[in-house]
Amino acid sequence: MTELAPYAVSEHNSHGRAVHEDAPFGRSEFQRDRDRIIHSTAFRRLEYKTQVFVNHEGDLFRTRLTHSMEVAQIARSIARYLKLNEDLVEAISLAHDLGHTPFGHAGQDALNSCMKDYGGFEHNLQSLRVVDRLEDHYAAFDGLNLSFETREGILKHCSPDNAAKLGRVGERFLTQQRPSLEAQVANLADEIAYNNHDVDDGLRSGLITLDQLASVRLFSGHLDAVRTLYPGLTDRRLIHETIRRMINTLVTDLLHTTEQNILTHVVRDIAEVRAAPPLVTFSAEIHEQNRELKTFLRTHLYRHYRVLRMSAKARRIIDDLFKAFMQDRRLLPPQFMLQAEHDHARAVSDYIAGMTDRYAIREHRRLFAVEES
Ligand code: MG
Repeated sequence: MTELAPYAVSEHNSHGRAVHEDAPFGRSEFQRDRDRIIHSTAFRRLEYKTQVFVNHEGDLFRTRLTHSMEVAQIARSIARYLKLNEDLVEAISLAHDLGHTPFGHAGQDALNSCMKDYGGFEHNLQSLRVVDRLEDHYAAFDGLNLSFETREGILKHCSPDNAAKLGRVGERFLTQQRPSLEAQVANLADEIAYNNHDVDDGLRSGLITLDQLASVRLFSGHLDAVRTLYPGLTDRRLIHETIRRMINTLVTDLLHTTEQNILTHVVRDIAEVRAAPPLVTFSAEIHEQNRELKTFLRTHLYRHYRVLRMSAKARRIIDDLFKAFMQDRRLLPPQFMLQAEHDHARAVSDYIAGMTDRYAIREHRRLFAVEES
């Protein structure tokens, strides 16, 4: 790894792990975090979980696994340029969606409303719960025993009530401090990744069109440039070439703006990063254009009637599963039955949140279709 900037997270300024372990041989603590995440069960499930499209709709749409890899790629490029801890941004990026329910945002909203009398459901908090408690691979501890800074990066948002129960990792939500620059990078890399791949998947599915995107400056500026430079390009190449230029514009702008922010706020170490305002940002102009793109996607893709139909179906499946398991906990698999004896609703929520799209569909069929068992 290249030399780290003084404001980067390093093994020397890290708050370490909850359970003490000897330093790893031949790799850094944050490499070890990343390796544990990749070997986790929750990570493998990302392959069959989706954000916008349900998993069986097409083989070319993003899943949460490929999304997480794209986030890691973007975040690592940014981190390397800024001399931040690349292993840490990679670990955060690969873990950031581990707590997501099946069926994307619709699934998360459904589970949250099922859980409203039992403490609610937040996917960020669930990602932390997965790495802190639910993974059961290690003899000496529950979860993955990750470094503080990886856990901090995973917990992107948190309500004050929940933050108060989390100890050190929740403190910043109560004291209004910022997380490390590495966490800030992973967060914006996530946004860059999903906005751009949702345009790609949206076009591929036919739910949005190139003509509609003409109103989005970030897209249309590059589209016009590519059309002028390469007349007669097929649509697939035209779209891909435009999107790669969009990602490049966002990343380049973020690098320049962040470098400038670091200079302006004179941060010299990680403590100063935590006390400063958010430093990993877009410029005002690109921020505005990115907002325009997000608004477009919300209106034309996420609220498209075909997406809403899938969401309605997803909500019904989650509702049904939740009710069935709450009515009779004996229907739960053995490992959740035990937990359900003292914490029934949370056990059901953990079980459902861990399901992949297709597993949830199958489980629903097993419970409700008379001809299945
Ligand atoms: Mg994400």
